[in-house]
Amino acid sequence: MISQKPMLENRRPPYDGARTACPACRTLARTVKTEQLTEIVREVTYRCSNPDCLCSFKAQITVIRVLHPSLCASLPDALSPIRR
Ligand SMILES: [Zn+2]
Repeated sequence: MISQKPMLENRRPPYDGARTACPACRTLARTVKTEQLTEIVREVTYRCSNPDCLCSFKAQITVIRVLHPSLCASLPDALSPIRR
């Protein structure tokens, strides 16, 4: 008889979007809303998951540098290399 290895448990919680720490109490804050402001800037609204805090705040995610150019599209002007 062939023994089978038990399946590994998935120990990570399910991904529920970008998360960050609350700036007030450092508890995990969850994404409430996101809005694309420009081609390279996204604004994210977070709410602290600590029921004694419930702080709500906004953050921005910005593309700051391209590590490898796209193989199928051109970059927005804000990310184009400076030509001298
Ligand atoms: Zn908090």
